[in-house]
Amino acid sequence: MSSDSEQYDVLVIGAGPAGYVAAIRCAQLGLSVAVVEKWIDRQGNPVLGGTCLNVGCIPSKALLDSSERYHEINHAASAHGIKTGRVSMDVPAMLTRKDKIVQQLTGGIEGLFKANGIQWIQGYGRLLSDKKIAVINHASERAEYHGHSIILASGSVPIDIPVIPIDGQRIVDSSGALEFEDVPKRLAVIGAGVIGLELGSVWNRLGSEVIILEALDSFLPTADQQVSREAMKQFKSQGLDIRLSAKVTGSKATKKEITLTYESAQGKQKLPVDRVLVAVGRRPNTHDLIDESIELKRDERGFIDIDCNFMTSVTGVYAIGDCVQGPMLAHKGSEEGIAVAEVIAGQSASIDHNLIPWVIYTEPEIAWVGMSEQQAKKSGVNYKKGMFPYAATGRALAVNAPAGFVKVIAEADTDRVIGVHIIGRSASELIAEAVTVMAFAGSAEDIARTVHAHPTLSEALHEAALDADNLAIHKAAPKRR
Ligand code: FAD
Ligand code: NAD
Repeated sequence: MSSDSEQYDVLVIGAGPAGYVAAIRCAQLGLSVAVVEKWIDRQGNPVLGGTCLNVGCIPSKALLDSSERYHEINHAASAHGIKTGRVSMDVPAMLTRKDKIVQQLTGGIEGLFKANGIQWIQGYGRLLSDKKIAVINHASERAEYHGHSIILASGSVPIDIPVIPIDGQRIVDSSGALEFEDVPKRLAVIGAGVIGLELGSVWNRLGSEVIILEALDSFLPTADQQVSREAMKQFKSQGLDIRLSAKVTGSKATKKEITLTYESAQGKQKLPVDRVLVAVGRRPNTHDLIDESIELKRDERGFIDIDCNFMTSVTGVYAIGDCVQGPMLAHKGSEEGIAVAEVIAGQSASIDHNLIPWVIYTEPEIAWVGMSEQQAKKSGVNYKKGMFPYAATGRALAVNAPAGFVKVIAEADTDRVIGVHIIGRSASELIAEAVTVMAFAGSAEDIARTVHAHPTLSEALHEAALDADNLAIHKAAPKRR
């Protein structure tokens, strides 16, 4: 390993979507960059890409797609007149496809590093001072590296609950639930959050009986409540058994099964299952990242404190992505990566954190940006709303996806759009138009007067915008002023 003489303009710890994007933008701006990354894949190879590419966004979406196709063939093909024989699922083949996609993308980042002249330092990095990082490589050798600026992008890790210790086989976190080699007969999911719903959906579609235990008494509380209610209705109809106010108190594993105990309004309950997915949130990965001699401020949960320029309490040391406050989303981390690079290069950069879209990749998909109706009410803003059901658009019927709706919330006085909420097929793609309109402080009328191709699902957004002024064309019972 190199000795302690290596000097860079920028050193980055972590090559997830926050760190690797920051590094590429730094290189584009003419800065010399090295990235310290410790990740080793299941085959023992060092890889780039972090949680998102290796065990997060990408592999989960690959499995969501495979499982959705299987489900469609079994349950929706006949509606199109397609007759199938016996359909079976080759789970190892599905996992191989997922792994290939992951390898293609992580290899792609490696290629981008080479093309941009970015140095990849393999090993565990630790901040020693405002300009120095120590790295222990995979052969346990130690070296030190100097950077004029340092970016911490160490990401996050799953939160575990002591009463259900992860064994990696039958009791797993999200990474384990991407690797089941057969379909669990009965899968308990602890936590009805994004991971619980996405990975619960994967195994439910493949035939598992999925029971989701959620501690809170409300479902998807940060989504618009009308969307949450519709989502609950849709997921229940798909067979997801979502139990709210369920406080897990213990687990007992025998050779045959795992019995969870939990308390709910009905009293003490027992739930025998054959696998358990614990998905109760993630915490910043900042433990053992910073030498004790440095006073770098973190909050009580471990998130690194930063100012509006992503600078930590130590001058010249920046932090971005899941290890700082804000939604734990890949695109949020990547935008911060671009912005911090520009700040380091002496440019001014900022991100409007109110315009970060959220997407849950279930079927129907759920996506939103900006204020929910309950937030608009709470903040006292004078608002109006428009709604449009998918079932009233020709394309939704043609593609057999009538479930869901679009909701546009706009300021009553100015017509400025302050929130858009979509539950329905391809919501993940449709939300981009709403984000763009809001980024330009656009109005509901701006969407309403924009020509949307016919027949497309985007017409539901167009009609919802028209409906904010009671002008929707295809609404069955238009309101009259
Ligand atoms: P990470 O991706 O966690 O990367 C941090 C990197 O830092 C890691 O590679 C780690 O090995 C490295 N590192 C940490 N400490 C050190 C150290 N001391 N030395 C060297 N290297 C270090 N988000 C979305 O936006 N869309 C999705 O669809 C989505 N799906 C998800 C599905 C799942 C199952 C999971 C678990 C997450 C999902 N997320 C999704 C969240 C997304 O993965 C994270 O928000 C994103 O990866 C955060 O990026 P990051 O770069 O901040 O951190
Ligand atoms: P989450 O915060 O979305 O959901 C965790 C859920 O677990 C919450 O509903 C919480 O009330 C519940 N919970 C907490 N403790 C519990 C307990 N002891 N018993 C029962 N329920 C409990 O977290 P997650 O689903 O683990 O996902 C972590 C993060 O990863 C998300 O916040 C998100 O930022 C990111 N992610 C994003 C996507 C996406 O963008 N599509 C997909 C997956 C993950």
